[in-house]
Amino acid sequence: MMSDCLFCKIIAGEIPLKKVYEDETVFAFADIDPQAPTHILVIPKEHIGSVAEVTEENSAVVAHIFEVIAKLSKELDMKDGFRVVSNCGESAGQSVHHLHFHVMSGREFTWPAG
Ligand code: AMP
Ligand code: ZN
Repeated sequence: MMSDCLFCKIIAGEIPLKKVYEDETVFAFADIDPQAPTHILVIPKEHIGSVAEVTEENSAVVAHIFEVIAKLSKELDMKDGFRVVSNCGESAGQSVHHLHFHVMSGREFTWPAG
């Protein structure tokens, strides 16, 4: 755990939130500022800064995150479609430096992303 990381604090239970899923390595919760009718964040419990810090040693949790996303997409009835986004770095708008995947559903999404 990184003591100054917001999402590490969330995993440690130090910040109130709406938990959607938890297992040994992955945590999912509702985004506090939803950009779609359904907007959840799926994160590894291990502190990884961003997609740019994924390595051969820590990538298994990323594969597991996508298994969890597939499962949640069924449980949360996202059959009409959903978008998975991971902002990485300043120009992409990353504001929390703990790897997270936004999973959004319940509206039409445009492309290219803004
Ligand atoms: P990003 O800007 O891609 O780094 O995404 C960070 C996300 O974390 C934003 O969508 C925020 O709304 C969300 N967020 C920040 N603080 C909290 C919190 N306490 N609980 C839930 N979501 C949060
Ligand atoms: Zn962290």
